[in-house]
Amino acid sequence: MRGVILSKPGVVQVEDRPDPVIIEPTDAIIKIAATCVCGSDLWPYRGDDPADRIPMGHEYVGTVTAIGAAVTSVAVGDFVVGSFFASDNTCEICQAGYQSRCVHAQVMGEIGTQAEYARIPLADGTLVATPGAPDADLIPSLLAASDVLGTGWFAAVAAESGPGKTVAVVGDGAVGLLGVLAAKQLGARRIIAMSRHADRQKLALEFGATDIVEERGDDGVTKIKELTGGLGAHSVIEAVGTQESMMQAIRSTRPGGHVGYVGVSHDVDLPGLELFFSGIHLHGGPAPVRRFLPELIDLIWNRTIDPGKVFDLTLPLEQAADAYAAMDQRRATKALLTV
Ligand SMILES: [Zn+2]
Repeated sequence: MRGVILSKPGVVQVEDRPDPVIIEPTDAIIKIAATCVCGSDLWPYRGDDPADRIPMGHEYVGTVTAIGAAVTSVAVGDFVVGSFFASDNTCEICQAGYQSRCVHAQVMGEIGTQAEYARIPLADGTLVATPGAPDADLIPSLLAASDVLGTGWFAAVAAESGPGKTVAVVGDGAVGLLGVLAAKQLGARRIIAMSRHADRQKLALEFGATDIVEERGDDGVTKIKELTGGLGAHSVIEAVGTQESMMQAIRSTRPGGHVGYVGVSHDVDLPGLELFFSGIHLHGGPAPVRRFLPELIDLIWNRTIDPGKVFDLTLPLEQAADAYAAMDQRRATKALLTV
């Protein structure tokens, strides 16, 4: 099969890779229908994380082509969505809703789903089948559920977005934009998107943002305070993962409020005393997307939400290098790869 390998920072190659096979009786093999490039794939691409001939990709939707002897909840021919961690969905951590920290969690990025096929460990716990074969126009939205929508949704839930709340969103990448969509669906009264890019502001407004703040850092905090009677937002979604974005989120939150942080943390160092006196709740981490998949698939299937709008570039798998370059250079928010 063909699949993406990051040879070294900046060098994306599509190569012949071994066809995946069933290894454990709990595995399934899927033929991938669509995959995509994640903001987090840019960390190794830019050399900020190690990159030495690693398979890439952890977002996927596709059709089951084989199952192990122990798999019972999905069958050959099912169209399925899974997330970036395989999970058993039965251990105490999974049952509490934290499948990304499952005691048996396996990292899908190590398998690499920017490929024609993928082995999915713990298929019964990991995969959720759609009600039938999806219409082609639903595939981008179902793919979004695999990571960026599920992650934005978790951030909105972790930030306790809900009726009557003012939600601020730090970060205008795909996750931040879908955090806006999630906050809207969860009933937030006011949603402030922090963005300096006209195209992303437009999408944020389509997804339900009521206000746009272009300032960032301390100026952004000042603006959020101005818009909230000096108090700060009830709920803040952090979807970047840098020191500046994390402090912007914490300082934009009113005492008693909640930060949902899902930007993968890079060199973030939190000041203890400031945090102590802030009186806020911090809740985040790798999103347990699996918790939300049934609900998200339902909302997409019923055409209540259209998160697939975040994909503003679609290329065939063979042109993966162009997709990485476009996202790296911010010519694209999120690139979909057709397989
Ligand atoms: Zn588990």
